[in-house]
Amino acid sequence: MAAGGATERMADFDLSPQQRMVRQAVREFAEREIAPHVEQYEREERYPLELIAKLVPLGFIAPMIPEEYGGSYIDVLSYGIVCEELARIDWVVASVVSVTNSLVAGSILRHGSEDQRERWLPPMARGEVLTSACLTEPGGGTDLGNMQTAAEKVDGGYRLYGTKVFISHADYAGLFFVVATLDRAKKHKGVTAFLVDPKNSEGITIGEFPMRTLKRDNLAEVHFEGTFVPDAGLLGTEGGGFPVLGSALDMGRYSVAARCVGQSQRCIELAVAYAQEREAFGQKIGEFQMIQKKIADMVCRTESARALVYRLGRMKDAGVERASMESSMAKLMASEAATANALDAIQVHGGYGLSSEYEVGRLLLEAKALEFGEGTSELHRKLIAEFTLGLRKQ
Ligand SMILES: Cc1cc2nc3c(=O)[nH]c(=O)nc-3n(C[C@H](O)[C@H](O)[C@H](O)COP(=O)(O)OP(=O)(O)OC[C@H]3O[C@@H](n4cnc5c(N)ncnc54)[C@H](O)[C@@H]3O)c2cc1C
Repeated sequence: MAAGGATERMADFDLSPQQRMVRQAVREFAEREIAPHVEQYEREERYPLELIAKLVPLGFIAPMIPEEYGGSYIDVLSYGIVCEELARIDWVVASVVSVTNSLVAGSILRHGSEDQRERWLPPMARGEVLTSACLTEPGGGTDLGNMQTAAEKVDGGYRLYGTKVFISHADYAGLFFVVATLDRAKKHKGVTAFLVDPKNSEGITIGEFPMRTLKRDNLAEVHFEGTFVPDAGLLGTEGGGFPVLGSALDMGRYSVAARCVGQSQRCIELAVAYAQEREAFGQKIGEFQMIQKKIADMVCRTESARALVYRLGRMKDAGVERASMESSMAKLMASEAATANALDAIQVHGGYGLSSEYEVGRLLLEAKALEFGEGTSELHRKLIAEFTLGLRKQ
């Protein structure tokens, strides 16, 4: 682990030889195939379709899709390492893998019919169908029980009415995982999950979501204006959307947390490299104690977050299906570590931290965004406290 080197022993110490090989393979791939292009896509605000396509031959796009559906299924801990190593280089590419595997493929595997698995998983594993999760609404993303997007039962299917915002990958997605309510009065018991084919459905408008930054992620607003979804698009049962959502977010938070560890690690590497080169007052800035404090804090944050993420991966590998409290802990600590590390790494760079010649400034906004995606820090603190106080059960 480049800067790296000193913390590699801890990060890899109890990985199996196969898990170390996965890390090595993904890291080499990301550094060779993705890293040289990221800044150009960033400057051009361009969605990295060509980089995403490169994931496919190596199976990195579908590490949670079983081989029988064309995927390259590996254990959950290795999947986290794939997300970590990809995010160390590019957060959009890592986001595609995370949304595809944790939120969409995982939901289809856990709650879908055999027909749904056979229809959707093979093209996802071939990279032909990218996916979006349409959860957040203009009225709020935290209180999902208060969902406004409505589903109406009609002959042969359902019609969807409502708007989703902040939707990653929507313009390029061939499959939407959508949650809507069949009965608002029932609150979370009315929430229902659907698989929607956006390329072949009428009544869907996709518009740009007005982000000030992070343009490359291509966030969208998705309007459902009486969109017809056939019965075959119901995922799970009517009113059964909350358990679908719960298990999706459980895995989603795991992969987002793993991505944050990769970004935190990258911040260490960039800060260390700069501190070893840059001089002030006739010495390397890495010799100043106040710079060393930042490096030490960055390493401790990253390793603490990584420990939580890997332990969660091992729990999942041991068969623990729902680990909501542990997912919240990993997501909370890792996303806040990534933001704090980006701030420290920028500070180590001085004014150059905000120059477009250095990568580190970009990492700050990407890390901050990950404090919102898949649940805000406030939500996770609330959940962790409620579990601990016995006010909420797994
Ligand atoms: C880059 C990016 C990509 C995203 N991608 C997607 C995507 O692909 N699909 C998708 O569906 N969504 C996506 N989101 C949306 C994200 O999930 C939401 O931003 C998030 O869930 C928070 O919702 P909100 O922004 O509406 O904030 P709100 O829910 O309005 O919350 C506002 C503030 O109030 C706090 N708050 C709310 N409730 C409580 C409470 N009970 N106690 C204490 N504080 C509370 C929140 O923590 C927050 O600080 C993305 C967001 C970003 C930034």
